[in-house]
This record gives sequence, C-alpha cells and structure tokens, in this order.
Amino acid sequence: MPVQFRGRNTTSDLFKPGERCHLAGVYGCETCRLAERETVVQVEVEAIFPLCAECPDLDMGWRLRDAARA
Ligand SMILES: [Zn+2]
Repeated sequence: MPVQFRGRNTTSDLFKPGERCHLAGVYGCETCRLAERETVVQVEVEAIFPLCAECPDLDMGWRLRDAARA
C-alpha cells in the first residue's frame, strides 16, 4: 500500500511524496527551487509522487511546472 499523507499544506498546489498524481506533467521540487536548485520529475497520472533526490528529508513538495499535453 502506498503511504498516504493526511492533510495538505495551506498551499494546496504542493504535492507530497506518497500522494497520487492526478495530472501528468513535469513537477519541480519547491524546496530545491527555494534553494536555487533545479530538480524536476516527470509524473504520470496514477503514479505516486517520489521523494526528491536532492532533499534530505520528507518535508518537501512538488509543484506543477508544465502539464503534459494529451
Ligand atoms: Zn528537492
């Protein structure tokens, strides 16, 4: 079973590792962005958001950069 994170940040467009993706596209790590790193992942519909490879802890979130064109 995938880990489900209950609750959301107040910023509702941030997705946590373990959440299920409902919109395919390229997502950027918000924590990395704030640290001026460029970390993006391609996530498909029904896929689980991964951990960020660059961030040392779970306290990060993915923000949609570009939705995939159907
Ligand atoms: Zn990151």
